[in-house]
Amino acid sequence: MDDILDCLIVGGGPAGLTAAVYLGRFHRRVMVIDANEGRLALIPTSHNVAGYPGGVHGPDLLDTMRVHARRYGVELRGGEVTELAREGEYFRAETSVGPVQARTVVLATGVVNLRPPLPQDAHDEAVARGQLRYCPICDAYEQTGRRIGVLGADRHGVAEALFLRAYTDNIVLLALSALDIDPTTRTEAEMADIVIEPAPVSAFDFGSDDVELTLDDGRKLRVDTLYIALGSHTRNDLGRMLGVDLADDQCFATDGFQRCSVPGVYAAGDAVEGLDQISSAMGTGARAAVTIHNDLREKDGQTLGD
Ligand SMILES: Cc1cc2nc3c(=O)[nH]c(=O)nc-3n(C[C@H](O)[C@H](O)[C@H](O)COP(=O)(O)OP(=O)(O)OC[C@H]3O[C@@H](n4cnc5c(N)ncnc54)[C@H](O)[C@@H]3O)c2cc1C
Repeated sequence: MDDILDCLIVGGGPAGLTAAVYLGRFHRRVMVIDANEGRLALIPTSHNVAGYPGGVHGPDLLDTMRVHARRYGVELRGGEVTELAREGEYFRAETSVGPVQARTVVLATGVVNLRPPLPQDAHDEAVARGQLRYCPICDAYEQTGRRIGVLGADRHGVAEALFLRAYTDNIVLLALSALDIDPTTRTEAEMADIVIEPAPVSAFDFGSDDVELTLDDGRKLRVDTLYIALGSHTRNDLGRMLGVDLADDQCFATDGFQRCSVPGVYAAGDAVEGLDQISSAMGTGARAAVTIHNDLREKDGQTLGD
């Protein structure tokens, strides 16, 4: 029994680490295994996390949350969980740091944004310099009045461009290959003065303060910042191994208390259907932790009877 955790948390972003802080403070035995490829780590400075009026650097917030979780005895391990299976009463995880057994599991694995074709270093540097962006809800405010490109010439891209239209009247919608926009959507974009560029982008240059885009027909365009609207993919493999239900967008479907459809499995953060933000990752992480603690108390006969 000594080796069995109360909870294994897969993913150490704001969702997993908030769940960890709460569970640590409930005197639960918890381990977080994190591959350290999360979205929070990519944020140069976030200006919409309440309590940080001057903004907060993503990696700094991550470090602070790690210190916070460790303070309450949470074991944080760098590595990857590669398999999850139910084994009798417990879950067994195969991980790059060895096998782990736990009574419950939190899937806080996040999502991965689909990226333009760029070398990893060039991509990460452009994100750090604010030339490439992924989240208008997060940082469009700082782009007010600027020249904005939106890469993703389909319905999703137009929706993002329309969202950004509240911040600037200088928006160009760009494609990586052929446009995929129906006539009604095109009219909506045009009525909002969004320019739709028919020639696909063939090269990106982040060498100056702004972004130079070369189009397939040889023309060059400059924007101050480029929002990537190519969609995302949810890291849901471990949940699928356990047979948990997914929502239409391939995120984990949960009840109002972060329980997945398989007993003992909980999910939080971007990997759950809903708003992909730090504050909601923290909120769902907290709610998962409280639910786990109460579900285990009930299982162990530590709650009031009916
Ligand atoms: C460029 C950018 C800017 C953003 N700006 C803001 C902002 O200003 N404000 C805001 O609120 N939000 C912002 N966001 C969104 C925010 O980063 C996410 O909503 C938040 O990080 C989600 O937290 P999470 O814990 O669900 O996932 P993540 O932070 O993505 O963490 C998930 C973790 O799980 C790990 N993991 C996944 N699978 C496994 C596995 N099998 N084994 C081990 N570990 C695993 C990953 O490696 C990762 O470390 C931004 C996102 C981006 C990309």
